Amino acid sequence: MTQVNVPDIGDFKNVEVIDVLVKPGDEIALETPLVTLETEKATMDVPSSAAGVVKSVSIKKGDRVSKGSLILEVEASGAAAAPAEKKETKAATPAPAEEEDVPFTDTIVREKEKAAAAAAPTPAKDTSGGTYDFDMVVLGAGPGGYTAAFRAADLGMKVALVERWPQLGGVCLNVGCIPSKALLHAAKVIEEAHEMESFGVTFGKPQIDAVKLKGWKEKVVGKLTGGLGMLAKQRKVEVIRGIGKFVSPHEMQIANTDMTPLSTVLSKGENAPGEGARKITFKNCIIAAGSEVIRLPGLPDDPRIIDSTGALELDLPKRMLVIGGGIIGLEMATVYDALGTKVSVVELTDGLIPGCDRDLVRPLEKRVSKRYEKIMVKTKVTKVEALKEGIRVTFEGEQAIEPQIYDKVLVAVGRSPNGKKIGADAAGVVVNERGFIPVDKQMRTNVSHIFAIGDIAGQPMLAHKASHEGKLAAEVAHGEKRFFDARVIPSVAYTDPEIAWVGVTETEAKAKGITYEKGSFPWSANARSLTLGRDDGLTKVLFDPATHRVIGGGIVGPNAGDLISEIALAIEMNTDATDLGLTIHPHPTLSETVMFSAEAYEGTLTDLYVPKKA
Ligand code: FAD
Repeated sequence: MTQVNVPDIGDFKNVEVIDVLVKPGDEIALETPLVTLETEKATMDVPSSAAGVVKSVSIKKGDRVSKGSLILEVEASGAAAAPAEKKETKAATPAPAEEEDVPFTDTIVREKEKAAAAAAPTPAKDTSGGTYDFDMVVLGAGPGGYTAAFRAADLGMKVALVERWPQLGGVCLNVGCIPSKALLHAAKVIEEAHEMESFGVTFGKPQIDAVKLKGWKEKVVGKLTGGLGMLAKQRKVEVIRGIGKFVSPHEMQIANTDMTPLSTVLSKGENAPGEGARKITFKNCIIAAGSEVIRLPGLPDDPRIIDSTGALELDLPKRMLVIGGGIIGLEMATVYDALGTKVSVVELTDGLIPGCDRDLVRPLEKRVSKRYEKIMVKTKVTKVEALKEGIRVTFEGEQAIEPQIYDKVLVAVGRSPNGKKIGADAAGVVVNERGFIPVDKQMRTNVSHIFAIGDIAGQPMLAHKASHEGKLAAEVAHGEKRFFDARVIPSVAYTDPEIAWVGVTETEAKAKGITYEKGSFPWSANARSLTLGRDDGLTKVLFDPATHRVIGGGIVGPNAGDLISEIALAIEMNTDATDLGLTIHPHPTLSETVMFSAEAYEGTLTDLYVPKKA
């Protein structure tokens, strides 16, 4: 009989056991995870130092343990002596984690959706007889889908990646994050060059060659999507081009597996199988079919009314209205403004970037209100008419102006998930009325071998959430005990100035009665910001008053999107104000403002004079 004890876990003592992963009678190998411990900084699995059959387990969930505490006793057996990890990587088709491990959680699946799950259509019978073409089929090759496919292949699965577009990368790489950021870079260079004039360096007026600029943007996109094609090849992931739809819980019909141009296929309707249609069977499936732009009802069908994809075409108008003051609309407004278009923005709610703290949005509002032709909040569009001379738009609301004629109207009012377009019914997968697919904390749908990730699985619709979930779903399908346990997902608006936030916001804290305290630092006192010619930024960090731990933060200013990761890490690692304030940050940098915010909170800041509280 061998005793297995808690190994050296660093400086931690009396650490809580949050999960016991084995029970008497289990056969375990060397390095099989036995228990999960949670320290102040992280959670960790304790691997077994012995192989055999578990005879007794000495600790339970909720116990506190230190180095040397007895976990269990093992009776040695030859069969179980191989390390668990090796065993897993050899297996081409590991069994997925048992379903009872993963109850639907209230946090993810709302009551209404639970009811929908109960009333779900009975899945059609599996006709494939238990052998499958693929261990894993991933539907959709956006950041969620390609990440999931690559991870599944790396774990030894035979993988197919089904994608209707000619290039991999989904919305993000083809018509979203990447092309928009390439154009935003051009906008930034133009603006910075212009601003240098007041510092004594004058460039000529920029000459915009929209065709060349668009070509450069497409080159950036091409490099990335081409790179993905290579990565798929290297991993032997079979990329199947066509429109996939479930026909049973283990089968997918794919239309257009030949090279017919996608536009032709779409014009035949998504149900048309097309030449070379193919049916594939799968053991597991990850749905990563993403989302598409919401079209406002009642708008005329006119090429001068565009969505974000149309805006990336860079057909520059003289005068443009952006309907929707959210992140995507404002990013495109930033580009068009820098390229010389007269931009107006109309937003239904009471401010730009709804949901973001007002103090973070204010520097952006101040800057764009001087530059844009008109910004109307609390205002809605009531009529849009396509006339020969332009698009005539009528407004109603607090800041409404007379009807106006624009050369172009960009509609950026959000995105809706593609859940209702993939034949989910045939697989028995529940889709809610908005088109999202409810999932549990392992990204499983109500059908345990089918997962959903990314935009189609819920808010926030962000690429970094999709890819995180993609990895997780692949690992769970491989049999790993992984859960979505990220505490926070950062948000960024790549406007000028950039705005980024993570964790608890002040708006949310006030609405939900969450107590918090704040340390903040204005960038007008940050050396690096001043050397960039900018003094309009702000960094703030929110703390739990009881523990001084970081619970949220927001940044507005150049590169806010890069800087926010430090606050995200601080939250994930249970960092407190002292940790942040005592971490030496390089000088002069914008990142110092995070440290200064913590110091301001702790009362140790010297870079500003903060009068002591009475
Ligand atoms: P998607 O990227 O939507 O990919 C889904 C894929 O599935 C698509 O390729 C689609 O063709 C395919 N597909 C769908 N149905 C089928 C079918 N039946 N058969 C075959 N294939 C199918 N997010 C950020 O995090 N940062 C940003 O800066 C950012 N900027 C953005 C800018 C714009 C203009 C837009 C529009 C979006 C932006 N986003 C940004 C959002 C981001 O693009 C999405 O959150 C992300 O792409 C979602 O990834 P996904 O894998 O869930 O799905």
